[in-house]
Amino acid sequence: MTDHLPSLATPYRTHTCGELRATDADAVVRLSGWVHRRRDHGQLIFLDLRDRHGITQVVIDRTDSPDAHEEASRVRPEFVVSVSGTVALRLPGTENAKLPTGAIELQTTAFEILSEAKTPPFYINDPEAPVDESVRLKHRYLDIRREPMQQRLLLRSRMVQAIREVHHRNGFVEVETPTLIKSTPEGARDFIVPSRLQPGSVYALPQSPQQLKQLLMVAGIDRYFQIARCYRDEDLRGDRQPEFTQLDLEMSFVDEATVTGFVEAMAIEVSAATAPDRPLLQVPFPRMTFEEAMDRFGSDKPDIRFGMELMDLGPALRGPDGAPASGFVVFDSTLAAGGQVKAIVAPGMAGVTRREMDELTERSKRFGAKGLAHLAIEPGGEVKGPIVKFLSAETQRAIVDRSGATEGDLILIVADTADTTADVLGRLRVELGDRLGLADPDVLAYVWVNRFPMYHWDEDNHRWDATHNPFSGVLPEDEALLVTASGDPADPSPDDPAGRARALQYDLALNGWELGGGSIRIHRRELLERSFLLQGQTADGMREKFGAVLDAFDYGAPPHGGIALGIDRWAMIFARQTNIREVMAFPKTQSGTDPMLEAPSVPDAGQYEELGLRFVGLPDKKA
Ligand code: ASP
Repeated sequence: MTDHLPSLATPYRTHTCGELRATDADAVVRLSGWVHRRRDHGQLIFLDLRDRHGITQVVIDRTDSPDAHEEASRVRPEFVVSVSGTVALRLPGTENAKLPTGAIELQTTAFEILSEAKTPPFYINDPEAPVDESVRLKHRYLDIRREPMQQRLLLRSRMVQAIREVHHRNGFVEVETPTLIKSTPEGARDFIVPSRLQPGSVYALPQSPQQLKQLLMVAGIDRYFQIARCYRDEDLRGDRQPEFTQLDLEMSFVDEATVTGFVEAMAIEVSAATAPDRPLLQVPFPRMTFEEAMDRFGSDKPDIRFGMELMDLGPALRGPDGAPASGFVVFDSTLAAGGQVKAIVAPGMAGVTRREMDELTERSKRFGAKGLAHLAIEPGGEVKGPIVKFLSAETQRAIVDRSGATEGDLILIVADTADTTADVLGRLRVELGDRLGLADPDVLAYVWVNRFPMYHWDEDNHRWDATHNPFSGVLPEDEALLVTASGDPADPSPDDPAGRARALQYDLALNGWELGGGSIRIHRRELLERSFLLQGQTADGMREKFGAVLDAFDYGAPPHGGIALGIDRWAMIFARQTNIREVMAFPKTQSGTDPMLEAPSVPDAGQYEELGLRFVGLPDKKA
């Protein structure tokens, strides 16, 4: 990307602060920017003048320009100044190879202070200086002046530009959808906005443009995309914000391969434009089913930059008749109860200390396991660990063989239900992979995961709940499963065939993060109604929540599908960050506040009054 465009000249500057080179020597120029640093040598004052394009050294000589020198002697860091003068080659030996403008300096003839600055609450000119995040957010406009934030916002801008270009080139229409709408559930709480013109009623801010983009398909738009702002009122984490941005797209007359094929090509182009120095692990992106991802990685967003896959120890623990026979009661009873015993191998960790092991066990318990067994393969091949005494030499060998461990490795074993085993080992794998430096930080490892279950059982509400999106289609061969054992879709139970149905849902993961997901949708009204019934919707509830889509499907709906990718998360990974706030210009804090604008805030008295509202406080939570 070129940052040095001649068209950036304005009445205040002939060039930017990053533009001048040795070939510009003797040119008469004018620059404007912020004072990055000032060095006062009496006769000579040196200023580093900064704008977002770079830094240029300015020299003010008392003899040559006494007025300019007097003005310049007043300036402090972050003053905004304008300097006119002549470009001169720096004296041999005083060039600065670190600066693109380091071969020259500006010899000042005229100097003007455009704006003065208080001493900032943190150093703008020291990108390494640690600054408390609350101070950065309070003065975000100063934080963004610093190089790291500036670079990240530029990266994000390049990324969105590339996204737009690829979509336009591929026949997509960019459509803006409203943000004052009706609830579009994506599994979070809605933000609501009271209506003044319709007292007593509210708009909901979109959790996503899901229904609107499907309506655009019914409207014949064919290929839609939007850089869409979404709002979800949920507890915040490092990779979540109450408002965030999605690349939202939808396509008509497509199957899963058409959508994922386009998205994959688009992602490859966007990666190359945004992070050209980061190699892709594998192209075409690997694809695996949800079942395979859980089985091998214990996660539906696997980080495939390293191995350490989950190994099923079952066959090593059973006797010739297939019955559990390891001799260790925890393993045997888990297998007898239909559970799983699985392991991961931590390379080179056989020398783990007792304290480290206690810490790993504690962690596993926090993840939901009852415990964590381990076997260390000592140099020489001897197997050690507290459970060794329960296992025959043969069983030990079988475990080591199945796990693939070699001398110096540590085998970590969880015995539990299939879900818990996968989840705990999946999380341990990521932690250890990180700790042992197994994942190449430069590589971008995209992976598709598909064939998710349509529903999971919602115990509390006694209904099936969509695992992803209530509009997701079902695999054609599983359509017959969208029924209940009772025969009445409104009377579901956990053993219904519906629990085995697989959705036409696909997720894209990147380096262990879920980048986004989408699906081929149900486009037939009666099938959508059946799916909604299984999800506990009454006929009235359906009309109330999804009436527009159901009605629209009566007027000719094309087969369609789409996806949404998290723009903030994507930019975060490109920028090698682990917190999306680092790639957002003005994010909220962990408690959902903006310390700079001081939002949210108490409304003016009149604002509530116009809406017919009064704040009566919240019920006492402890009661
Ligand atoms: N609306 C979905 C979401 O926001 C994405 C999709 O299915 O297109 O997660």
